[in-house]
Amino acid sequence: MAPVDGHHRCVAEATDEYDPIREDPAAATEGTAAAAFGLWAVGHLVDLPAAFLRFWLGWLVGWALSVGEGIPGLADNRLPLACGLVLALGPPARGLAAWGFDLSPGPLWRLARRLRRPTLRQRGEIEATIDEVTVKAGVVGIDVTPPRTVRISRSADGSASVLGRLMVVHDHLLETPTLAPVVAHELGHLATMDARSSLAEEWHIVASIRWIGERIQPGPPAARYRAAPFPARAVRALRSGVGWLLLLAGGSVLPQVLNPARLRLSRLREHTADEWAAAAGYRFTLAAALTHLSHLYDESDSWWNTPHPSTAHRIDRLRAYEP
Ligand SMILES: [Zn+2]
Repeated sequence: MAPVDGHHRCVAEATDEYDPIREDPAAATEGTAAAAFGLWAVGHLVDLPAAFLRFWLGWLVGWALSVGEGIPGLADNRLPLACGLVLALGPPARGLAAWGFDLSPGPLWRLARRLRRPTLRQRGEIEATIDEVTVKAGVVGIDVTPPRTVRISRSADGSASVLGRLMVVHDHLLETPTLAPVVAHELGHLATMDARSSLAEEWHIVASIRWIGERIQPGPPAARYRAAPFPARAVRALRSGVGWLLLLAGGSVLPQVLNPARLRLSRLREHTADEWAAAAGYRFTLAAALTHLSHLYDESDSWWNTPHPSTAHRIDRLRAYEP
């Protein structure tokens, strides 16, 4: 895909954010952090039905655990009540923790995404790159918050990301000139509340409940079931209903109504992280890296419907950046 062609320029100019670089990035950063917290909180309010479903799921689990004679907690429903409350309030509670403290996703999350520990050589290269960004940023008086954990992804369809204090680097960046500017952009996310807010949103989802829901769902080939005998159709309908309830209980289905605001915020954050990298001395190298990596960003959607601003728009803004 040609990175900066006429078509993409038109798309760039049609965005809502085609304004010059902000005069006060610090104030803008505080504004986006407050908006992100507000959206996260409203997301949980919108998702109250999911919390209600989780309460009864937890209650059932607690009840099943305490079935039998002489188990403490059964007589007065204490165990089912405790399980229900933990499952209902867990996601907002751990989200609050993600906002308030420097946390990272756990080993199960990393395992599910097939992330690997970096080899000694990879670790050395990434640490040297973070040191390089730290020194360059230090020259202009910018503090760096380094990631606490670095993991490697072997998938070719991304570049790098941060979630809490975890940084994920895709291995195709290693030993290329794109690594330093991309790491600088990610350190820009770590310098603001972006990384904490992304983790809080990620922890809105109870992945285990979603996972069970997805497997209970009967799947698409519905045509042959129409001719199937009644019991098979009834089982299919039951699986479909239970599967949907579990997907809903897993969280973040209803808050999708907030997506237009979430996506706009995400596009603003990308610009802020680009500005951070530009201020740290990566203005031209980041523009070059974006050109090189533009095939990774799907720009077939309308500009208002993507989490990333168009690459051409990001490059234009980097070129316009003045320290
Ligand atoms: Zn970013």
